[in-house]
Amino acid sequence: MSGASVTVAVRVRPFNTRETQQQSKCVVQMCGNTTCITNPKLPNDSTKSFTFDHSFWSHTSESDPHFASQLRVYESIGAELLLQAFHGYNVCVLAYGQTGAGKSYTMMGTAEPGQRGLIPQLCEDLFARVAKEGSSEVSFSVEVSYMEIYCERVRDLLTPRGRGGGLRVREHPLLGPYVQDLSRLAVTSLGDIAELLDSGNKARTVAATAMNASSSRSHAVLSIVLSQRRRDPLSQLCSEKVSRISLVDLAGSERADHAGTSGLRLKEGANINKSLTTLGKVISALAEAQNKRKKPDFIPYRDSVLTWLLKENLGGNSRTAMIAALSPADINYEETLSTLRYADRTRHIRCHAVVNEDPNARLIRELRREVARLRELLRAHAPPLAGPDHEPPNDPPPAEPPPPTAVNGATELLPPLSAAEAMERLQESERIMAELNETWEQKLQRTEALRMEREALLSEMGVALREDGGTMGVFTPKKTPHLVNLNEDPLMSECLLYHIKDGVTRVGRVDVDIKLSGPHIEDQHCLFRSQPGPIGEVVVTLEPCEGAEVYVNGQRVTEPLELQSGCRTPRTGRRQLRSRESPSPPPPVAPGGAGSPSGCTRSHSAER
Ligand code: ADP
Ligand code: MG
Repeated sequence: MSGASVTVAVRVRPFNTRETQQQSKCVVQMCGNTTCITNPKLPNDSTKSFTFDHSFWSHTSESDPHFASQLRVYESIGAELLLQAFHGYNVCVLAYGQTGAGKSYTMMGTAEPGQRGLIPQLCEDLFARVAKEGSSEVSFSVEVSYMEIYCERVRDLLTPRGRGGGLRVREHPLLGPYVQDLSRLAVTSLGDIAELLDSGNKARTVAATAMNASSSRSHAVLSIVLSQRRRDPLSQLCSEKVSRISLVDLAGSERADHAGTSGLRLKEGANINKSLTTLGKVISALAEAQNKRKKPDFIPYRDSVLTWLLKENLGGNSRTAMIAALSPADINYEETLSTLRYADRTRHIRCHAVVNEDPNARLIRELRREVARLRELLRAHAPPLAGPDHEPPNDPPPAEPPPPTAVNGATELLPPLSAAEAMERLQESERIMAELNETWEQKLQRTEALRMEREALLSEMGVALREDGGTMGVFTPKKTPHLVNLNEDPLMSECLLYHIKDGVTRVGRVDVDIKLSGPHIEDQHCLFRSQPGPIGEVVVTLEPCEGAEVYVNGQRVTEPLELQSGCRTPRTGRRQLRSRESPSPPPPVAPGGAGSPSGCTRSHSAER
């Protein structure tokens, strides 16, 4: 079967507030599938033009007949891939581009009508189709995992246990690269998946806040595994198709060039970019091999966690699309041109997708064989080195290639194993087999248990959870005074909510109601006192603790201060007070983008 090229789309967003204020010029033009860019410094120089599968013009508004809405982007890219997934192919969408160019808007979007991104629209379609086609003969199951790759470490966004420590990326001779212990949760409805996405995004914010970083420096990888089981009514034989839908919001591409411009970024090291740089190298190597019409000799998949995990999606068994997000503004000319070049290279990659027919049945068969072989091997080594509680050693990082392993079950080709290695591999294979044999009911129970654990943990941290569980978006209690978290990333902004209870709410590191971390946060940092005022309104006072740095609206506070709705307290993690005295219009918070959140961002970055 001949491969299909990676589908490549570019999309240009409207000017943001700052660009409008600076009277930026639009340097990107689109006509049909062609995208042109003009160098603002050399306007007489010929413009450069590129042709893609889609050039989405989202610079203007709905009234423009050429305007590409969220729906149009989904229908052109997402709907087609979903169709392929139902046929049993692996599919993948990668969003690439400079920070602020519109990756998250394209992938996730916002909760407002018409603004939902590709992911929520795809999930909605997926469940609509499952509901329509499910019958006594066909059954579907959907499982989700959501992880973040930051500084070459993988974090599970769906389990509280995933916080902090990184998960190990391993390679199994039959499964290929995978993340050990990454939770894969069973979902039965759009509501379920929306809730998981929401809580995953919250977990991202918590981590970014704790690390004093920004989510734009991490890659978010959402995987949806769709399994369809079909029973033939005549023969009663079952067949199964499994496809993995990988939806990837990549870290901002500008880091690839400008890493190390500031002290903090330098410290975080080349690691943040290692995945993105390697992705570029992998794409170039694959594209070059395609141009020369030869089999690629060496593709550096193993050089980074991202490319190692996305190996199949890049030039392997997958139907893959990339959406490159472009800023229209003259000031971003260089970055935008480099994004266009990157997207252009990606067009040359071909993938070889195959329908994943009965992969689990085959896997279980092969795993059984592998387990039997390993047991035999261990019996030959006597006495056994490893007991049942033996702690397996860490895998070498993907950068140091593990011993070459054979493809697709040809385990006989493996190099000889030591007893310890054989024991470790046996435990690993047995664990994978147990997971594959888990019933749907067991999966649902595990998902529910994790959900409760997650909620308990978040509420322990003082984070309020949405009570309705319905659509994505932010749940804002109208009655209780609360703090909202503001993030430079508008999608993450207001994801976290901290209630201020009646009486005293303590903030700090140890023995507190709201736990914060990061530099400058004291064990006991400050406290909020909430009391009824003379006319029954709620009065909230902020009291800094001895020696703690606390700022309200940019001013250092050393004495107790009565807060107003809309106050900003950047030093305690860019939080903003909202309270109930304002029953109708919400307090002065700019909805997304410019306005006060960016004001907070500025004062925040000044701390670094
Ligand atoms: P990225 O994820 O690439 O860093 P975002 O998706 O967060 O960038 O976009 C930055 C800002 O621009 C956000 O406020 C977002 O809502 C807005 N934006 C991006 N693309 C569009 C678009 N096509 N239409 C309207 N607003 C957009
Ligand atoms: Mg983003």
